[in-house]
Amino acid sequence: MTPIVIAGSGLAGLAVAREFRRLDAATPVVVVTADDGVSYSKPMLSNALAAGRTAAQLASADAVQVAAQLGIELRPWTRIAAIDRDARLLRLATGTLAYGRLVLALGADPRRPVLAGDGADAVLTVNDLAGYAVFRAALAGARRVAILGAGLIGCEFANDLAATGLGVDVVDIAPHPLGRLLPPRAAAALRQALDATGVAWHLGRTPRAVHRRADGHRLIVELDHGPAIETDLVLSAIGLAPRIALAAAAGLATGRGIRTDRLLRSSDPAIFALGDCAEVEGLSLPFVMPLMTCARALARTLAGTPTPVAYPAMPVVVKTPALPVVVSPPPAAAQGAWQEDDTADGIAARFVGADDTLHGFALVGAAAVARKAALAREVPAWL
Ligand SMILES: Cc1cc2nc3c(=O)[nH]c(=O)nc-3n(C[C@H](O)[C@H](O)[C@H](O)COP(=O)(O)OP(=O)(O)OC[C@H]3O[C@@H](n4cnc5c(N)ncnc54)[C@H](O)[C@@H]3O)c2cc1C
Repeated sequence: MTPIVIAGSGLAGLAVAREFRRLDAATPVVVVTADDGVSYSKPMLSNALAAGRTAAQLASADAVQVAAQLGIELRPWTRIAAIDRDARLLRLATGTLAYGRLVLALGADPRRPVLAGDGADAVLTVNDLAGYAVFRAALAGARRVAILGAGLIGCEFANDLAATGLGVDVVDIAPHPLGRLLPPRAAAALRQALDATGVAWHLGRTPRAVHRRADGHRLIVELDHGPAIETDLVLSAIGLAPRIALAAAAGLATGRGIRTDRLLRSSDPAIFALGDCAEVEGLSLPFVMPLMTCARALARTLAGTPTPVAYPAMPVVVKTPALPVVVSPPPAAAQGAWQEDDTADGIAARFVGADDTLHGFALVGAAAVARKAALAREVPAWL
């Protein structure tokens, strides 16, 4: 029998394999991945430093163990070069692999800032376990770290690094941390809490160049205005670009991600997509809950029961122990306004439409965060 082939062994790829095996023990499943096939929880990468955890300690199973646990074939270090849709083949460096149905779970690449200077190539990103290992090794002897990007991942790393005793500078063009997710007062509360951990902010600024230097701190980050930052390491966390190149080259419909319908079916009915690489009915949601929801629905579809995915509101927990944050952002098209109320130790913000519909919320501080489940029930389903 021609196998179901899953491209990618991140949380999305392995979740589909696991869910499918619960429903069908017989159909062969092959997971092909460019990396080592180690299973790990990616969200842990941005709160592992203060806990003193190495990359090896974050790995829950290696490729051989994953294959045995799931009853699948797992091919690590196998990069897919092209998809031949007519022949239903993947082109690999080592030959070809036939698929009956193909699941693309290829993830996303970190966006790289455009920087001048002889230190631009020293800028690191952490988007997988290998990247975390490189970053952790580079921290040896460092006293300060500059983070480019004050979004979710930038703020989480800022909190984690500051908790290890390192000096942290955060640069962002936006005037507030988590500026795309939080309304102003909630963002200010988070900024204040991270201030107290020693984080220094360079907001409303754009990094222009990174220079190496021979003495003192190892690098200098030059900004469009304001004083330059002396630091030992630069971490970029300015966002993700879904990996769509393979799909686009094969003629599949792509937008921000690989476009699918609610059955997670691409423009080719034999090819499906989920996780960070996918755009499901126009929604690109690079978080764990959406991909797990997709994996369960897709497993049923692949096992013979077509199951459209349904997205309830899926609040995202921001891992900033200095001040707990939960956000359920309103859909881009939602009309309304933020209402921010004080709580005992933070802010509870609701994004409310003219008809009083709650489209989203942002909760900052433990008292507000306790309202997460109740508010999530009020928000209409996204899909
Ligand atoms: C630091 C960090 C913290 C995060 N924290 C949270 C959080 O707290 N909560 C939350 O909900 N989300 C969080 N996220 C997001 C979440 O982790 C991701 O949405 C999720 O892990 C994406 O999984 P994925 O399987 O789609 O992609 P990936 O994990 O990127 O997997 C992609 C796979 O595709 C393979 N691949 C790529 N190209 C090829 C090719 N050509 N051939 C073969 N294989 C290929 C790769 O090797 C890899 O195995 C965080 C992300 C990061 C980076």
